[in-house]
Amino acid sequence: MEKLRLRFAPSPTGALHIGGVRTALYNYLLAKKHGGTFILRIEDTDQARFVPGAEDYIKEALEWFGLVPDEGPGYGGDHGPYRQSERKELYQKYTTQLVEAGRAYYAFDTPEELAAQREQDPNFKYDASVRMRLKNSLTLPQEEVAHALAEGKDYVIRLKVPENETVSVQDKVRGQVSFDSNELDDKVLLKADGMPTYHMANVVDDYLMEITHVIRGEEWLSSTAHHVLLYRALGWESRMPEFAHLPLILRPDGKGKLSKRDGARFGFPVFPLSWNGQTEEDSFTGFREYGFLPEAAINFLALLGWNPGTEQEVFSLEELVDTFSVERINKSGTRFDIDKAKWFNQQYIIKADAGYLLEKVRPIIKAHGYEPGDAFLRGFIELMRERAITLGDFWENGYFFFEEPREYDEKMIQKRWAPERKGLFDELAGQLHSLNGYTAENIKAQAEAFINEKGLKFGDVLPILRLGVAGTMKGPAIFEMMELLGKEEVDRRLRKAFVQFNELSNP
Ligand code: GLU
Repeated sequence: MEKLRLRFAPSPTGALHIGGVRTALYNYLLAKKHGGTFILRIEDTDQARFVPGAEDYIKEALEWFGLVPDEGPGYGGDHGPYRQSERKELYQKYTTQLVEAGRAYYAFDTPEELAAQREQDPNFKYDASVRMRLKNSLTLPQEEVAHALAEGKDYVIRLKVPENETVSVQDKVRGQVSFDSNELDDKVLLKADGMPTYHMANVVDDYLMEITHVIRGEEWLSSTAHHVLLYRALGWESRMPEFAHLPLILRPDGKGKLSKRDGARFGFPVFPLSWNGQTEEDSFTGFREYGFLPEAAINFLALLGWNPGTEQEVFSLEELVDTFSVERINKSGTRFDIDKAKWFNQQYIIKADAGYLLEKVRPIIKAHGYEPGDAFLRGFIELMRERAITLGDFWENGYFFFEEPREYDEKMIQKRWAPERKGLFDELAGQLHSLNGYTAENIKAQAEAFINEKGLKFGDVLPILRLGVAGTMKGPAIFEMMELLGKEEVDRRLRKAFVQFNELSNP
């Protein structure tokens, strides 16, 4: 089999939507499954929509997910340049070739003239039915065309779509999809500014970059008819890639396509990384900043439009590479279920390698002003990892490992604390403080002995210790927590807490 070459071809028009990451992922998976090449191509021919920083964002996102291109701008490769804006001459060469072969033509209609046509007929389409009455190299005398070109008059080059043909696309997801060529307009291939349109650049590059398979979003399916015509017109039909169009990603409520605004609307990320746009409306929190592990997000995205055909849900990237197949891409849209994404994240946090998690959690703790040693941080992570859904939860649910409780659960104190017991608890605190070997085991044994000796119950004592140390009833195993915090810190907290508990229960 010929070596597979797949490309991810985003336009740098802003932050990359999470759907784009899914497209990149599927291209990556198919390429890697067959030992092929994954290429990044930047489709930046639309200068009006170009956004500075977007290309770097795309690369950073791909790298964060581990989908590192084998070829692309900044990644090397011998099919470059990989930015379309640096390939202008190539597109010009092939459009001219098409004109010479009679498969495309110059059109001189001004924007005003076209607007006037649209005014007369709101359904106006520049196509076979009207092209012979418009201003182009098919209708104007040759000398006039030559003159206009020599004069530097504005023109575009349009594809001459053949009449009365059925254009069929063999799509790997949808099967055969057919279009009536009479419905297709004469697409602009080269714009007045000398830049190609998406269609022209995309086809020329897929050919020159020897792309074997194109996996992209469903919204490009209808363009594929024009692409097929272009391959034919250029004489490249035998080298046309195979196409697979991915189903839509739907809003959680199933009401239409997931849009970038839905993130704000539903309170979850729809972008891989945070993006600071010009306005607040155009700024988004990413999966990364939301506290997702890249592996979890990848796993989630893989199943958003593909199914393995088994019960297995958790897949590493390597397992996905092995298991992925285009045949198992779903035909219908899939709902974006953020709870499922969180579930994956939780699974990955629980199973993550300790060292790996350490590097992910450390910056979060540091952002709050704490730089604990590795041993402490590891202990903390082991106690907390079962309780974290996002990385941010390590701080949210465990901040009290780094600083004193900000508040005490008053309701619990009213319920569990009795001022006359303060002496008793001070005595317990003293006993614990004088322990030799401040381990969870020893602390527990000492607490048990105390409970028995005083004729108390566990329920009288453990909640008080927990509230004193953490302020809340939620948290990991109390004795382990005390061991990690250490004797002095625990003692300081308990003594202080008991005084406060007295105040709180005696308003
Ligand atoms: N530049 C197009 C995009 O932004 C690429 C579509 C395709 O893969 O052909 O999605």
